Amino acid sequence: MKLLQFMLILFNVVMLAFIVYIGYRLLRHHRRKKEDRKNSTALCPKCGSANGQMIGSNIIFAPSKYKCRDCDYEGVFLLVINHKVKEFREYVRKQNQAKKIKKDVKNKKN
Ligand SMILES: [Zn+2]
Repeated sequence: MKLLQFMLILFNVVMLAFIVYIGYRLLRHHRRKKEDRKNSTALCPKCGSANGQMIGSNIIFAPSKYKCRDCDYEGVFLLVINHKVKEFREYVRKQNQAKKIKKDVKNKKN
């Protein structure tokens, strides 16, 4: 009988510890996400420019739409963490280059 009681208490302690741990993880995740949002910039996915103007943000829960002042792209901008902006721009530049080469090859064939 005493063993059963002991097991029950042990089980409760373990469950409590588990719940506290999960709560702590959730809180940390939430805080980190908030911080990420604060430390990130909305960038144009087409040219990597941060020079966007917000348009049509009247719908709640829908991502805000932007219009790029540099390439006229209209749509959702990507939220990029500030220290990854350079990397993202490099990626976009390479993508655009690849697209241009593909286009050139196509034009040459025709
Ligand atoms: Zn753009």
